[in-house]
Amino acid sequence: MDLSNENVIHIRRGEIEYLQFRKLNQYPEISHAYILKPLDLRSHNSNDVVQNYKVAFDSLDLKIETLLRPHQKHTDNVVCIHEKKNEDKPDIFMDYLENIDGAITDKSGITLATTNADCILLLIYDPVKKVIANVHSGWRGTFAKICEVAVKKMIAEYDSKPEDIVVCICPSIRKCHFEVDMDVKEECEKIFSYTNKLDEIIRVGEVKEGKQKYFIDTVMINKIVLQDLGVKEENIIDSGICSVCCHEKIHSRRADGIDYGLGSAIIFGNWDGSFFQIQ
Ligand SMILES: [Zn+2]
Repeated sequence: MDLSNENVIHIRRGEIEYLQFRKLNQYPEISHAYILKPLDLRSHNSNDVVQNYKVAFDSLDLKIETLLRPHQKHTDNVVCIHEKKNEDKPDIFMDYLENIDGAITDKSGITLATTNADCILLLIYDPVKKVIANVHSGWRGTFAKICEVAVKKMIAEYDSKPEDIVVCICPSIRKCHFEVDMDVKEECEKIFSYTNKLDEIIRVGEVKEGKQKYFIDTVMINKIVLQDLGVKEENIIDSGICSVCCHEKIHSRRADGIDYGLGSAIIFGNWDGSFFQIQ
């Protein structure tokens, strides 16, 4: 299975497979990837997450000690990172990153990471102000508009202009598979009726065991919220890939069940030129 399309390129290096956005590859001062199966970045069983990141980082010519990964708790909390705490090892599983679902930095030499198994991950770059962000937006984060929190922070803290900001949407569960019950559908209607696009966002599904099901397009919601902030449509780059449809290569909680693994999106800034660089 090759997931390359007009927006992403599927790269294989030995055992390691990842996607890169063609748009982000236009900026030599940053590195990024969305890591595919078989690597698993979830801490479960005897899986060694840091070692697995190291395997990926080695193949990307990144140093493992640059890694910084929040815990992710389906919040809308986004932090600005001014420095890593650990100098010689990754900032992962650390208290200061508890309850955080998005991180922003303008510092060279920090690799911001997020993980998913169906949730949306957004890789964000402002090539003018040289600011990167990495945001985890599951349906709860999407309903809380965490992408808006992140972009507003980039504007307030780093003087970013929305029209300069590039947002890349990693593989996630899509409308074809994101089936929900009435409660989630009603919450969606309550929050997003103002968009006048509920007809496109929500599709009525089947009745299963007496319960009406619905399908929700959380990717579309993120796109609408971003465009309302002034992010240009052409700067919102969607991988267009459903994690359930493509679970052969992409970790999916719905497809893989209780023992699911995690994929990871990473982004790294190198504007002072002193760090390793992806080719
Ligand atoms: Zn699907």
